[in-house]
Amino acid sequence: MPDVTLTRVYRFASAHRLHSPHLSAAENARVYGKCNNPNGHGHNYTLEVTVGGPVDPATGFCADLPALDRAVHAGVVEHFDHHDLNTLPEFNGLVPTGEVIVQVIWKRLAAAGLPLRAVRLHETRDNVFEYREER
Ligand SMILES: [Zn+2]
Repeated sequence: MPDVTLTRVYRFASAHRLHSPHLSAAENARVYGKCNNPNGHGHNYTLEVTVGGPVDPATGFCADLPALDRAVHAGVVEHFDHHDLNTLPEFNGLVPTGEVIVQVIWKRLAAAGLPLRAVRLHETRDNVFEYREER
């Protein structure tokens, strides 16, 4: 039975500030530009979570959609929505760039036992980050 994937779309709004403790103030300003503003800024993130597996001949489904929704809402949407990502413990010591956020989301969803294939995070209209692991 071939694998089929299901991608589900979620949305949340979060604030962040891009500032690295490994860089000087001048380097932070140069590297991150206006995203280094001490007051932070926000994004309306769109998250695409792809899960997959063989299609169950009894149900015709490749994934448990209600379980996916529960895991993403509890693990990501309710946890991140209307929060400052810099203050959340999973970003402690990390710069919450799109590259980092997408990996944190993967870890949180993988810990929930989802059959993850890919996580894509749309940060702006033009910036999309994707994380996947070889199976
Ligand atoms: Zn930003």
